[in-house]
Amino acid sequence: MPALSQRITTLNGDGSDGWDLFYRARAMIESGVPVTELTIGEHDIRTDPSILRAMHDSAMAGHTGYAIVPGIGALRDEVAARIEARTGVRTGRENVLITPGGQAGLFAAHMAACAPGDVALYIDPYYATYPGVLRAVGAQPRAVPTRSSRGFLPDRAALEAACDGAASLLINTPNNPTGAVYPRATLQDIADVLTERDMWLISDEVYDSQVWEGKHLSPRALPGMDARTLVIGSMSKSHAMTGSRIGWIVGPEEAIACLIDLATNTTYGVPGYIQDAALFGLRAGAGLEAQVAEPFRRRRAIAERVLAAQQAVRMIPAQGAMYVMLDVRATGLSGEDFAFALLDAHHIAVMPGESFGQSAAGHVRVAMTLEDSRFEAALRSLCDFAAGLAKAA
Ligand code: PMP
Repeated sequence: MPALSQRITTLNGDGSDGWDLFYRARAMIESGVPVTELTIGEHDIRTDPSILRAMHDSAMAGHTGYAIVPGIGALRDEVAARIEARTGVRTGRENVLITPGGQAGLFAAHMAACAPGDVALYIDPYYATYPGVLRAVGAQPRAVPTRSSRGFLPDRAALEAACDGAASLLINTPNNPTGAVYPRATLQDIADVLTERDMWLISDEVYDSQVWEGKHLSPRALPGMDARTLVIGSMSKSHAMTGSRIGWIVGPEEAIACLIDLATNTTYGVPGYIQDAALFGLRAGAGLEAQVAEPFRRRRAIAERVLAAQQAVRMIPAQGAMYVMLDVRATGLSGEDFAFALLDAHHIAVMPGESFGQSAAGHVRVAMTLEDSRFEAALRSLCDFAAGLAKAA
């Protein structure tokens, strides 16, 4: 076999990617051991049947051929109206590209923002694919650290210290894995630094329908930021459509025009029947999104109640998204050692914080993707286990 390109062989960086625990849990399940799975951000409900009917009707009506690459006009208009309503910034279909999911949007947005060799910033802790996306476009990933004690919000000094030579910053609010929802002051600091340095902001807002406290604010809404912000949206989380692969990028018209050229030469668009289903889902209104988010809202309240009744584990305040981040440093273990010990002792699988970067060392991320009573029981076991370890520590 000829040599593979360095770009592809180094996609995951060097060292462990921190997903060993996840694979161990999967192997246990395959060998017949029941494992309580709290690792992955996948709903425990499926896509609403009304959306599937729209998908079926569209396919049966013949929308199975090539769809127009930027996305069908009605869907681009619907996304534009949604973003305009949320940001107050004029947004038309020329500002919208429909993509096969948020992940494809993240890649395309960085292709637009970064030349090969440019530094691309991202916030630590981060969603697992971020450094790989940045390497895939030929950029040099550089993490901006945050602190657990500050709710993992980026601060201006850390951002300024990382900015030299950087073309872009990638943020995610509401945040996976931390549950943080960035307040206006944090976003304004980011906007000021990026404007001063003439950098792009890539704003991953795929959890914008899952906010438990406060309000989601898109940085596109801040004065002048629409000219340097590429917003990544998706129906994976808001409409439980993870498998349908549908999302969007919203940004300046010139950037979207270039991204349409990229799509023509890469994805060649998104299937028409998926787009029709997405349009139906968006037009179904906020009620359907609230229904999809509701189980996580309930379980986040359960987590607050369970965690408040003990001392061994500290819950990072979670204002949004489908995860809670727990500080287990009182046990004396790393997040990874704690997660493996919990899996062995109680067959409960949670993600080590270290899988999401060094800022989350000594933490674990719990996905709230299990039926309420089992979720509560698993959290109680986790806390009792941590208390036993903390006493011994
Ligand atoms: N961003 C974040 C923060 C995520 O958690 C995910 C999926 N878990 C994605 C982007 C990608 O989502 P999708 O491609 O399904 O839209």
